[in-house]
Amino acid sequence: MNKQPGTSGLIFNEPLLWDKSREGRCAVSLPKPDVERADLEKDLIGDAPELPQLSELDVVRHYTRLSQWNFGVDSGMYPLGSCTMKYNPKTNEVQAARQGFAGAHPFAGEEFSQGALKLMYNLEQYLAKLTGFDAVTLQPAAGAHGELAGMLMIHAYHAKMGKQRSKIIIPDTAHGTNPASASLCGYDSINIKSGDNGILEPLAVAAVMDEETAGIMVTNPNTLGLFESNIKEIADIVHSKGGLVYGDGANMNAIMGIVKPGEIGVDVLHFNLHKTFSTPHGGGGPGSGPVAVGKTLEPFLPVPRIVKELDSYKLVTDFSDTMGRLHTFYGHFGVMIRAYAYILSMGGKGLTDASKLAVLNANYVKESLKGTLNLPYDYPCMHECVFNDEFQKEYHITTMDMAKRLLDYGFHPPTVYFPLVVDSAFMVEPTETESKEDIDQFISAVKAIAKEAQENPEKLKKAPHKTKVTRLDEVAAARKPCLRG
Ligand SMILES: *Cc1c(COP(=O)(O)O)cnc(C)c1O
Repeated sequence: MNKQPGTSGLIFNEPLLWDKSREGRCAVSLPKPDVERADLEKDLIGDAPELPQLSELDVVRHYTRLSQWNFGVDSGMYPLGSCTMKYNPKTNEVQAARQGFAGAHPFAGEEFSQGALKLMYNLEQYLAKLTGFDAVTLQPAAGAHGELAGMLMIHAYHAKMGKQRSKIIIPDTAHGTNPASASLCGYDSINIKSGDNGILEPLAVAAVMDEETAGIMVTNPNTLGLFESNIKEIADIVHSKGGLVYGDGANMNAIMGIVKPGEIGVDVLHFNLHKTFSTPHGGGGPGSGPVAVGKTLEPFLPVPRIVKELDSYKLVTDFSDTMGRLHTFYGHFGVMIRAYAYILSMGGKGLTDASKLAVLNANYVKESLKGTLNLPYDYPCMHECVFNDEFQKEYHITTMDMAKRLLDYGFHPPTVYFPLVVDSAFMVEPTETESKEDIDQFISAVKAIAKEAQENPEKLKKAPHKTKVTRLDEVAAARKPCLRG
């Protein structure tokens, strides 16, 4: 029963299609023509591209084999912390593929896009309700783009108040995109340390908050998987000096329907629809990073905004204080459809239950592994928990060695070496969609690896052993990338 899902058999080799190509091989056999052959290349299309010549079976096997070298949520547990690699229900895909949605075009105009606009309008309303905000824009194309949109709104707000500010407070637990987004708006990041218990101390914020500071960016729950329980007090300190509070909502999966950031002092918050609201992600595919705002920032939302008038929906651009346009059209509509289908199929209670289960699963992992791996912040966690390799140091085994070995057991490794506040972090986010059996398998794999660290560290240092490619030289890969096939 408790057999690990790791590879134990056939992993096919597969050359490039060019190497499989054989002169004259073709995927279709057409009957002999009964008209004279035209010279297609010469008379009609010019030189034909050099394409490999293959049978249908060659092509099917090629792509099927390559797909088996890949790993996804559909093949196994993917406990990548801060990324919320939950299962993506297939009904979302069915809805997004519907002809009316998949065939929609931004140039069709409002009149022929009422269904799409209605879906977007309703999704905005749901997201606002879930988080206690007044308005939402769906335009940002990813979380980091949402951060940029939010910071541009804060920038526009200070300009409107008559005096631009120069700094933004960012805690040491923040994702790297936070200071990057602030910097794109011309703000200098003021880094502050979290307290010994892994969360922000109001005194640390009060010490740096002044009238030159535009606000603070807080991730809540933070990237240590801990809830920033002083958030209200911190927001009061920032507001008292005229600043605003940016909420990084990438970790929303822990708090849906449980915490409303809009009611505890946050002025603007981004979502990652592809994380919390179940769109397949991780391969660099399209994301969506809607931004929710309270009354203070609503006038600065990007245009166009969707406005409902009686029973019809309009795209309106004439808002005088708007930060402007974010891009050409309205964002990644396919991701919005998936999020909408997910929200409707879960319902309010279902979303809250999902968060509760995500938190339960992470605490189960934390408690089960805490004697095996070092747990620098031993507090009840939210949807993820952060260990490191302190216990393995005496055997010269690192977080990277253990992450690589997990591949042999059939698991995607957790997030490693992030957040930076934990030296050699090993950050596990099981999500609500893993069963207890699967989580137990993961726990027993980590325990087996920790045992191997003591008994056979030499072997562990060379892991993975069973994957298609084994230990890569990551420095060479980064320094001398091989960009050709
Ligand atoms: C994922 C993440 C982001 C960035 O989101 P993208 O959608 O990848 O651009 C920002 N902050 C945190 C905490 C994240 O986990």
